[in-house]
Amino acid sequence: MTSLSTPRCTLVGAGPGDPELLTLKAVKAITQATVLLVDDLVNDAVLEHASPTARIIHVGKRGGCASTPQAFIHKLMVQAVHAGEQVVRLKGGDPFIFGRGGEEVEHLRAAGIDVQVVNGITSGLAGMSSLGAPLTHREHAHGVVFVTGHAKPGDTGTDWTLLAHTAQQAKLTLVIYMGVNSLAHISQGLLQGLPARTPVAVVQNASLPTQRQALCTLGDMVDTMNREDLQSPSIIVVGDVVQGARAWASQANVPELKTQPRALQA
Ligand code: SAH
Repeated sequence: MTSLSTPRCTLVGAGPGDPELLTLKAVKAITQATVLLVDDLVNDAVLEHASPTARIIHVGKRGGCASTPQAFIHKLMVQAVHAGEQVVRLKGGDPFIFGRGGEEVEHLRAAGIDVQVVNGITSGLAGMSSLGAPLTHREHAHGVVFVTGHAKPGDTGTDWTLLAHTAQQAKLTLVIYMGVNSLAHISQGLLQGLPARTPVAVVQNASLPTQRQALCTLGDMVDTMNREDLQSPSIIVVGDVVQGARAWASQANVPELKTQPRALQA
């Protein structure tokens, strides 16, 4: 139980980029905030909802330093809450899908702060939807795995071969976040358990006007990403559901889906 006097902080999901994908609750929290701590992948357009008097602190790479240490972000949040500010921690996508939202909540709660969480649309959902395809399908995929390609330093990371076998047997779609820098390693592991012909979609800057994407197969994923120069932030979707994106591309008369779908429809 929390009382009215319990200090509060709200973790808000800013969605994948398109400001129209914000929830009404997110807009309300942003509007009411007196202090906003903003992550790298949050689109600045989202901040148009903030009060002109609110203090906006960028705590990602754009904030000036290489990347604000997590401990410093924790300290800033706790200080601002104890100073009586209405603190909103704005995170890209959903606050609880990667991006260390869980650690922030634990830290705030340990400091006696009540935390509320406002969900955002995670980039893994937005990426695939922007290609007109689902992540699950009665014929092709019984479930979805959201998995990170970036292991914590010192951690062995995901066993990609094991994951590939599981995905193959259980008919699961793999949605890989933060995979660009370890692509060769990921591809090598996945190819031990999934056929090289498995369809893959890579979507960079999902939901933004700068969105770019490519459809390929697991076997030529690394070459395609290099050739198309697809960079971070990108979502990589592996599985038969990607056939839906191919179908959409052929219907929309797009031989190879490399440019923004909305622009092509215009
Ligand atoms: N909490 C975020 C994920 C943070 S981890 C979410 O729910 O979306 C950061 C990774 O998310 C990036 O490396 C990339 O894989 C993915 N990502 C975030 N925004 C993206 C976007 N607009 N398009 C494609 N991938 C994105």
